Amino acid sequence: LAKKSNQGHFVYYHQEMEEKTLWRLGMIRQLRTDFAENRLELWYQPQLNLLSGKVIGAEALLRWRTADGNFISPAIFIPLAEYSGLIIDIGDWVINQACSTIKTLENNGFSDVGISVNVSIPQFKKDNFVENIIQATKKHQVAPNKLELEITENILMDEPQVVVDSLSELKKEGISIALDDFGTGYSSMSYLQQLPLDRLKVDRSFITHIAEPGKAVIADTIINLGKQMNLTVIAEGIEEIEQAEHLKTLGCDEVQGFFYAKPMPEDEFLDFLKKNS
Ligand code: C2E
Ligand code: MG
Ligand code: MG
Ligand code: MG
Repeated sequence: LAKKSNQGHFVYYHQEMEEKTLWRLGMIRQLRTDFAENRLELWYQPQLNLLSGKVIGAEALLRWRTADGNFISPAIFIPLAEYSGLIIDIGDWVINQACSTIKTLENNGFSDVGISVNVSIPQFKKDNFVENIIQATKKHQVAPNKLELEITENILMDEPQVVVDSLSELKKEGISIALDDFGTGYSSMSYLQQLPLDRLKVDRSFITHIAEPGKAVIADTIINLGKQMNLTVIAEGIEEIEQAEHLKTLGCDEVQGFFYAKPMPEDEFLDFLKKNS
């Protein structure tokens, strides 16, 4: 009897897995076509100095608008882009697009504003990853320190030495490095210490309840760790003024979140800069 029900389960899961696989392949095919047809957009979410309120930069975030006008969330398509290897060409496009935006901002008098881009593990594994990034800054004639790469701790799981070496090379060229979603991944403190970081991003999950009694201890600890490591600390996911006020008492340097602004297309970000400076 037990055997029978096990088999029943097996058939059930098997069908479900097949459906999932087919769905995945369909999505990947659609992503490949839509990327080729320029349906990916790079949007920008402002980052501000917490005390002065000055806009200091933006995080570049991918948006996929399908032919029927619907947006598909990066939380869904980024893992598929990574799995299929599409992230290598898409990531290249993202970096060039970000550099082009840095130049546009500079041409409009905002030469202090930096742009951060998220990078995935498969991108690091490409031989010419470092050269491609340097080339993009040269092609668009932007100062390398206006471009920041956001990496997560998980990037260190596979081949930590390769990642540390690539980042050190990029850092030597002047590119900035931020550690994203800090505290949510798995990584060894000994490798963390070797990373040539400029900024630490406190994950939204540590910010959500920060204004409630006794709930700020992790954010407090991460901010202090960042300061001790001489890093700029930015908190992400601020949605309420109480969270911002609390972050001030903890000595956080910078902020990003819906409370200030949601991600927006390049031209709207330029308008946002003009209105807020
Ligand atoms: P992330 O790098 O941690 O980006 C922050 C995410 O939090 C963004 O989601 C942003 O829209 C969202 N967010 C910002 N402020 C708030 C807030 O106040 N409340 C809430 N609830 N959310 C907020 P998004 O744009 O959906 O991106 C999700 C993830 O997809 C990113 O997380 C990043 O890991 C990945 N991603 C996005 N663009 C790229 C890209 O160009 N390349 C790569 N490799 N990954 C990307
Ligand atoms: Mg990020
Ligand atoms: Mg993040
Ligand atoms: Mg995240």
